[in-house]
Amino acid sequence: MKKLSYILLVLFLLLIFVGVFAFINQEKLVDRFISRQSDALSFRTDLLEDNDDIKLVTVGTGSPLPGERVRSCNAVFVGGKFFVFDVGPGASRAIESLRLPMDQLERIFITHWHADHYIDLPELINRSWLIGRTNPIHLHGPDPLDTIVQGMSQFMGIENQFRVDHHGDEFFDIAMALPVSHTITLDAMGYQKVYDQGGVTVEAFAVDHEPISPALGYRIKYKGKSLVISGDTKRSDQVVKYAKDADILLHEALAFDLIKRAIAIQKENNNRRGTTILTDILDYHTSPREAAEVAAAAGAKKLILTHLGPAPENPISRRFYAPDLDEVYEGSVLLAEDGDLYIIE
Ligand SMILES: [Zn+2]
Ligand SMILES: [Zn+2]
Repeated sequence: MKKLSYILLVLFLLLIFVGVFAFINQEKLVDRFISRQSDALSFRTDLLEDNDDIKLVTVGTGSPLPGERVRSCNAVFVGGKFFVFDVGPGASRAIESLRLPMDQLERIFITHWHADHYIDLPELINRSWLIGRTNPIHLHGPDPLDTIVQGMSQFMGIENQFRVDHHGDEFFDIAMALPVSHTITLDAMGYQKVYDQGGVTVEAFAVDHEPISPALGYRIKYKGKSLVISGDTKRSDQVVKYAKDADILLHEALAFDLIKRAIAIQKENNNRRGTTILTDILDYHTSPREAAEVAAAAGAKKLILTHLGPAPENPISRRFYAPDLDEVYEGSVLLAEDGDLYIIE
């Protein structure tokens, strides 16, 4: 009992000491807190260093199925440039949390006009402008890109003008508030070279996500290295063609076996809406095994699965993403996680 009283007394004195210390130093503590907040805003400029490599950050790896993951978004650093491919829900906040250099973001490429791939466009463009982007942002995507940009202009116009009115046009150039749009028009073979500067090329190709058309995949090449992003597609020979000998094939995959079990449960519960939607989903996506077959046919060196639905957050659901993939593909297969960094050296 005596010992307990002694401990309590020591704790009490300690508490008083901490309180007095905090009171005396409160100004310093506040300054330190503010400076720490400022540090949190410092960007990872190291990613912009051109080491003849391609760096990929899988910012968002989720699908529209329920889950905590950020939805479709990939950041690519190549030749000293910062590009983003798709801007799904949560992408802008995630890019900021990862301290990717938003003020240097130069180009955004959209695969197709499903909300899980572009809904954060206004947020990312606006946020990069607020944070200090002074260069134009180029937005590449399939038709009707101009309609999307016009809509964004109406949606964000009043906000953008408020910023200029408040802070002045020295720091907020209204011309940078909205993107420069570049509509991608594929040729008869379903192909267009979209970007070709400083040895970096970005090519778009048609994939099969019917009835969503056009839906694009992208290939990024630099100094003999290549990264291929499938976009949303069912198993597609176009991906096989463009992912030939790719260093990384980042392919979408849904856990078909898990979804089929969910469909059976929806049927049992007479949920016609749930049954229909889940059944439709299987029509225009790829199973993990099919993605591995595509990677094998293409001779891709590494396969990273993304757009994961349902998200593999535990050993039971993870099992549905790796059903004997080594039977069809010899390379390594990885399940993407939000915020992972891969470097093709
Ligand atoms: Zn999608
Ligand atoms: Zn889609």
